Amino acid sequence: MIPASTALPKGNILIVDDVPDNLTFLHKMLSSQGYKVRSALTGRLAIQSVLTKPPDLILLDILMPDMDGYEVCQQLKAGEETCHIPIIFVSALSETIDKVKAFSIGGNDYLTKPLQVQEAIARIEHQLNLKRLQQQLIDRNQQLEQEIGARQQAEEALQLAMREVTDIKFALDQSAIVAITDAQGRITYANDQFCAISKYSRQELLGQTHSIVNSSYHPQEFFQQMWQVISMGQVWKGEIRNRAKDGTFYWVDTVIVPLLGTDGTPHQYVSIRHDISDRNRATLDKIRATLATWHLTKAEEQVRLLQSVVVNANDAVVITEAQPLDMPGPRIIYVNEAFTRMTGYQLEDVVGKTPRILQGEKTNAVTRAQIRAALESWQPVRAELLNYRKDGTEFWVDLNITPLTDDIGWVTHWIAVQRDICERKEAELSLQRQAQIIDQVHDSVIVADLKENIISWNKGAEKRFGYQPQQILGQPLAQLCASEEHGFVQEQIFRPLLEKGEHEIEVQMLTKAQEGFPAHLSLSVLKDNEGKVVGLVSYCIDISDRKRAEAEILNTLEKERELNDLKTRFVSMVSHEYRTPLATILSSLELLEYYGHRSTESEKQENYQQIRLAIQRMTDLLNDVLTLNKSEAGKLTFNPAPLDLGQFCQDLVNELQRNIKTEHQIFLSVQDQCPQAQMDEKLLRHILSNLISNAVKYSPQRGTINFEVRYRDHRAIFYVQDQGIGIPTEALQNLFQPFYRANNVGNIAGTGLGLSIVKRLVDTHGGSINVESQVGSGTTFIVTLPLTAEDGPVLPENNQTE
Ligand code: ADP
Repeated sequence: MIPASTALPKGNILIVDDVPDNLTFLHKMLSSQGYKVRSALTGRLAIQSVLTKPPDLILLDILMPDMDGYEVCQQLKAGEETCHIPIIFVSALSETIDKVKAFSIGGNDYLTKPLQVQEAIARIEHQLNLKRLQQQLIDRNQQLEQEIGARQQAEEALQLAMREVTDIKFALDQSAIVAITDAQGRITYANDQFCAISKYSRQELLGQTHSIVNSSYHPQEFFQQMWQVISMGQVWKGEIRNRAKDGTFYWVDTVIVPLLGTDGTPHQYVSIRHDISDRNRATLDKIRATLATWHLTKAEEQVRLLQSVVVNANDAVVITEAQPLDMPGPRIIYVNEAFTRMTGYQLEDVVGKTPRILQGEKTNAVTRAQIRAALESWQPVRAELLNYRKDGTEFWVDLNITPLTDDIGWVTHWIAVQRDICERKEAELSLQRQAQIIDQVHDSVIVADLKENIISWNKGAEKRFGYQPQQILGQPLAQLCASEEHGFVQEQIFRPLLEKGEHEIEVQMLTKAQEGFPAHLSLSVLKDNEGKVVGLVSYCIDISDRKRAEAEILNTLEKERELNDLKTRFVSMVSHEYRTPLATILSSLELLEYYGHRSTESEKQENYQQIRLAIQRMTDLLNDVLTLNKSEAGKLTFNPAPLDLGQFCQDLVNELQRNIKTEHQIFLSVQDQCPQAQMDEKLLRHILSNLISNAVKYSPQRGTINFEVRYRDHRAIFYVQDQGIGIPTEALQNLFQPFYRANNVGNIAGTGLGLSIVKRLVDTHGGSINVESQVGSGTTFIVTLPLTAEDGPVLPENNQTE
């Protein structure tokens, strides 16, 4: 058995056999191989079936009753529609003669019954493949035939088109001026007509752009607009005035056609032109004639009016032709009398010449170029120009040039109106010079308008305030003033200035870096040409140095005053403090001298003692003055040495308690475990004994004095507290000034030197002294000293008595 196939039908096969069993067998065999099979029992039925629907292959039995296989084959091979269907004979006839016959009448193959299934299928497959290939060949042939046909048609069309193009080109060349340019506008083709009208040879034209025939007649925008159109691939049409090689002009009606490349952008431009010079001339003449008649009456009147204006004008009027803008320049056809007055040239001197005769060496080339550019594009232009008179002297003019067009808008002339601006230029120059001078000034010059905005300033101001002109001009003047007072500039600067016409004021100014400085402002009003006040001018001098010097002088004066005060107080105190013991000494000596012989020994001793005490008082005072002097001169010596503070304080209190003649009690309290101290014993003794003595002196009889010693943070703190008269608040700040005494001391003796010396000794020790006091309740002095010099100085507390 042959394995069944499930694939789609591989071909359409007709089996022709008169034996139904054969048909059935073949049908099964082929169907199982995926072929679509139909059957015919007779030759006639087979031919009918083929004609109805041609199969891809026919398996044909030879021996059949009414029409044998040979005949069927012959008929099919004779038919146009059926001749290409492959026929395989299937027959029991196995003679070579049979096979030869089968092949000779067009059979494609021959299978002998009984069939070898594999062989039969292979041959069927082979025939079908052959047929497919044949079909493909036929299809391809047909396609090729079609293509060849199409190409032939295209070639014919192309040839036709070429012929047409050549004809058109020929026609164009005969009738028009033709040029072809590349994308950059360089001429790559110029026909004879182009050469003829432009009077350039073809060699001269090729490679050039059309500017070779540019007549400078059309403004630049005209050509810019043209390029815009054609470079976008669109056709441009217009009329152009060109200039031939010999300088003559011709008008051409122009069509420019861009030829697009495969990328869609223009690769070439074809220009087709027609000479319309005559036509234009004729049209123009016609238009002019019409317009002329139409406007005649009105125009004549206007012309008369205008003429009288021009003739009598104060400004010079020059009328020139429109061309040529190149050398020698447009010719003058008219100048008025003002021109003669201004330049010294008479009308006959200048007619036919160019206005360029007025220009000379110093005439600004840039301005001239600007004027030229404007004229080239038919634009009116205004400029200031340096001109030369006939006698060679210079003068400045404000020049206004206007194009004069004819009725259809073509520029035919230029009218130049010149105003003599020498005076203004002179004024400008003088202003410039003044501005230069002002810029040289070291101080600031600031100009502000009435809206209080800065409108100008000099280099000095720029330097002092640190702003660039563009940062400050237009800004309010208040920006330069340090005052935050509302309306300061108006109230302090503008109002007094406008009232008095000038004004001076010292104000604090502010730089860009927000640094304030004192300044003296000399202000004057700024007026316009009509004398109207339009702002202010401020001459601003930085007076920082002056202010500093003033402050220094004041300081020195203050010190001198203090010194004088000190001297006065010193003299009065010393004289007083010396007079009292001296008087004591004197009276004791007198007693001894006159009554000594009558006095008892104890009375004498009493007098001697008085003298000793008085001398001691004078010595103490002298010592105090010397100590103070030493400290002022920075000559106090500081000799720290290890010191047992507890013991030292105890000894000091004992000594003082012994020496005081009153009934005051001194109580000492020392914190336990005193750390090792390094102090100058002499200085410390002086400090503490002075404070304790004062506490005794300014306390009532039998008062108690608390002396306390504490340690904290490497510091020793000494408290000396009494319940005495206290110190008035206003006296606290002067307490350490030499010779200062509070006004509540009454007749308690003293020099006012003690505390000032104490302060200096405390300072020498790197310590600080503070005081807390209440009048009538008592006073506490607090001295803080570093335990050793290594502990660093005591920073002063924020205490007014320090
Ligand atoms: P004086 O020789 O006047 O005592 P000091 O320099 O020692 O000079 O003191 C200056 C002034 O400080 C004193 O005149 C007094 O007014 C005031 N003063 C000092 N110590 C005390 C105190 N413990 N109680 C009240 N006032 C004092």
